[in-house]
Amino acid sequence: MSSKALSVTVYGGADQIGGNKILLEDRDTRVFLDFGEPFGLKDDFFVDWLQPRDKRTGLKDYFHFDLMPKIRGLYGPDQLEDTDLRYSEPEFDAVFISHMHFDHVMHIKFVDDKIPVHLGSAAERIRQSWEATGGNNVTFGDHEFKSFRTGAKVKVGSLEVEPIHVDHSVPGAYGFVIHTSEGCVAYTGDMRLHGPRSDMTKEFVRRAAEEKPVAMICEGTRVSDADPREDLSEKDVEERAKRLVAGHKKLAIVSFYPKDVDRIRTFRDVARASRRRFVISTKVAHMLQSLKGDKRIDVPDPMADPNMLVYVRSGLARPQAYDKVYLDRLGSSDHIVDASYVAKHQDELIFHTDFMQLAELIDVGPSPGSLFIRSKSEPFEEDDVQEEVLKNWISWFKLDFHQAHASGHASMREIFDTVNRISPKVLIPVHTEHPELFRRCSCPVQPPEARKKISL
Ligand SMILES: [Zn+2]
Repeated sequence: MSSKALSVTVYGGADQIGGNKILLEDRDTRVFLDFGEPFGLKDDFFVDWLQPRDKRTGLKDYFHFDLMPKIRGLYGPDQLEDTDLRYSEPEFDAVFISHMHFDHVMHIKFVDDKIPVHLGSAAERIRQSWEATGGNNVTFGDHEFKSFRTGAKVKVGSLEVEPIHVDHSVPGAYGFVIHTSEGCVAYTGDMRLHGPRSDMTKEFVRRAAEEKPVAMICEGTRVSDADPREDLSEKDVEERAKRLVAGHKKLAIVSFYPKDVDRIRTFRDVARASRRRFVISTKVAHMLQSLKGDKRIDVPDPMADPNMLVYVRSGLARPQAYDKVYLDRLGSSDHIVDASYVAKHQDELIFHTDFMQLAELIDVGPSPGSLFIRSKSEPFEEDDVQEEVLKNWISWFKLDFHQAHASGHASMREIFDTVNRISPKVLIPVHTEHPELFRRCSCPVQPPEARKKISL
């Protein structure tokens, strides 16, 4: 086989959860599957206000500490100006994004704008909302963003990419079935089988199995012999939260990842069942209203749903455009409330807060004994700084702490089951700390080495 045939090179996502950057080469066609930032990428050299100077010096600091691979024909001219890698015209045809999670998409800002980025149409709406509400630090570059839906067949050079929706903890998540000149390659992205739309994941698995892939690139977030976390479904989260809120006479606070629309729907339903209203931030409201245009997703409308309210922060010196939309209607719309309203109606509300917005609790003033439900995964590390800070807030406000979370990822058993069902000629495990455990599957396994080409 010549070097121009089919190969996969994992630049990010080998032996680590997140940061997927997977190069697929078929003859002269080269595409990246995802281009995310690994969690904790910079932690060895940067902390707090000491951060890479990327706005000023592009990729210089990243290259210095070998935090990013030096690849010719990939990055934008501004990114390379201060580095020893010379800019050259793009040598890559496209980036395909599986879903809009930080660890799958964030680094496309470094990629040459001349290289188009393909993503699902709901993912594109989330991207735009993220850019509009994320402040100065959030950018995805000026690429041509081309959106697709399930059923599409996107032709790029010698490849035909078939995106198929999967269920994950963010809308617009896809796996890819990719037709190459040497057979089919399947890529899972991130997926789960215990969520509200497991039918979508099953559709992907069925389609991939039909193609008898020469290779499958599979996520393995929960592939581990020691997974101490609870195995709840979204329905379990709803039932547990309903029980917790039903008996409570005080404010109910819930903390979860704000792009998880399933979780938003779950807590809207918990609010309805407990005759409360679910209060979300302007940022979350903006995302929901951006997604509303997509008729295929069932998205609650915070400005119309009788069980939802939008919370505006008080005293913003220079509110951003998306904040102003809601601020201007405070007092005239009965769907918009501020801290004084929440403070006065504590036993009628479920208040959403993300870690970064904990300070709103100072304005809201939850009475001692208020409920706090953490609806995200327990921290991995014992010495997690955010966890320490959260604990201090909980005890300062004397909150009644509970945990209720359903993972965005399939369990180890489900992942191995999926692999066996698709039965590829070779399996390449990514997005996992335990690629060797995949050897328990009934097909050959090739654990990737970072930046090393795997010829297929
Ligand atoms: Zn994800």
